[in-house]
Amino acid sequence: MRFKKAFITGITGQDGSYLAQLLLSKGYEVHGLIRRASTFNTGRIDHLYVDPHTTDAKLFLHYGDLSDGARLVSLLAEIKPDEVYNLAAQSHVRVSFDEPEHTGDTTGVGSMRMLEAVRMAGIDTRFYQASSSEMFGATPPPQDEETPFYPRSPYGAAKVYSYWVTKNYREAYGMFAVNGILFNHESPRRGETFVTRKITRAAARIKAGLQDELWLGNLDAIRDWGYAAEYVEGMWRMLQVGEPDDFVLATGVGLTVRDFLTETFAHLGLNWEDHVKFDERYLRPTEVDALIGDASKAEAKLGWKATVDGRELARIMVDADVEAIKHEGTAWHDIVSLESWGTK
Ligand code: NDP
Ligand code: GDP
Repeated sequence: MRFKKAFITGITGQDGSYLAQLLLSKGYEVHGLIRRASTFNTGRIDHLYVDPHTTDAKLFLHYGDLSDGARLVSLLAEIKPDEVYNLAAQSHVRVSFDEPEHTGDTTGVGSMRMLEAVRMAGIDTRFYQASSSEMFGATPPPQDEETPFYPRSPYGAAKVYSYWVTKNYREAYGMFAVNGILFNHESPRRGETFVTRKITRAAARIKAGLQDELWLGNLDAIRDWGYAAEYVEGMWRMLQVGEPDDFVLATGVGLTVRDFLTETFAHLGLNWEDHVKFDERYLRPTEVDALIGDASKAEAKLGWKATVDGRELARIMVDADVEAIKHEGTAWHDIVSLESWGTK
């Protein structure tokens, strides 16, 4: 029997690591694009890696970058994947105001380079684009697949470009190309500068007596926070249906940053007001006030529904950060294996 092959850009990121884990568990051969760096950047996937010289290796990593179109064409022509998941991006909204051109090149034009690489390689593949609720921006909630876009950052604008170019390749070339419009999703593997992980990591460190203060920006923003491990299942399901279509994935529950703080600190018996300080450095020139998704279409057509809401997520993440502190100094992959992934 021939195993299905998947190609994942952004495999070293939060979602890429959960998706690789999911696809390997389904028997896929997984190929991932990684950037050459002067330090190791594979911490989130080290626990999945098997020496490629052995016969049971199913995960293969290839150097490349979304800015290098020729490399993307040659890799896809060589690997001939059945499914491509384009998760790579400069994914931080605040940073996109500091590096707008780079964000446009990676998060926007990078997606078009991937689509064009699929077309030029002449392969028959299904394509997933990591679209974002940030595209809705200033349009008030609830947001679903029909909600008009009004991006409020260079990141959001770049994702709108990627959304439309994905739709265009579907219509122009008959490509099986879909947009997963995902609302914020987090996990113990979330980057440390996103607000949820910044909060859970700081709370764990305050509890352990390693720090006392936490500097934050706008506490009034509302987000629909779900669990990344569940969202990658939704991505996979989008590529298994009969016809290509776009889907929102969300929990439908909105919390403020303040709610997330309260839940996290209370879980450790702490009062956040004793520790949190305001720093305007963390404000954005234009803010997205409220994102709350309606994922009814995904539930009806994909049978996908989030089971973990933002409050439970806060507890999962802070428990993992408390555990990680006990293992500080040990390798990242040991910390990853402490997670109860897939049990909830
Ligand atoms: P991360 O920031 O954790 O991961 C981003 C990945 O992209 C990393 O593997 C990074 O590599 C890689 N990358 C960045 N720039 C390039 C480049 N120029 N060439 C190749 N690879 C590159 O993001 P997430 O896992 O959280 O998100 C995955 C995708 O989903 C992103 O596109 C994000 O914008 C989108 N999204 C995420 C949401 C969320 O809440 N998490 C919500 C909606 C959409 P390296 O490790 O080397 O930095
Ligand atoms: P985003 O929704 O993709 O921008 O995800 P983030 O986790 O970066 O930010 C979520 C919300 O938290 C935004 O409304 C931010 O303005 C707000 N926020 C408040 N303080 C901070 C902070 O210190 N860091 C970050 N990243 N966000 C913050």
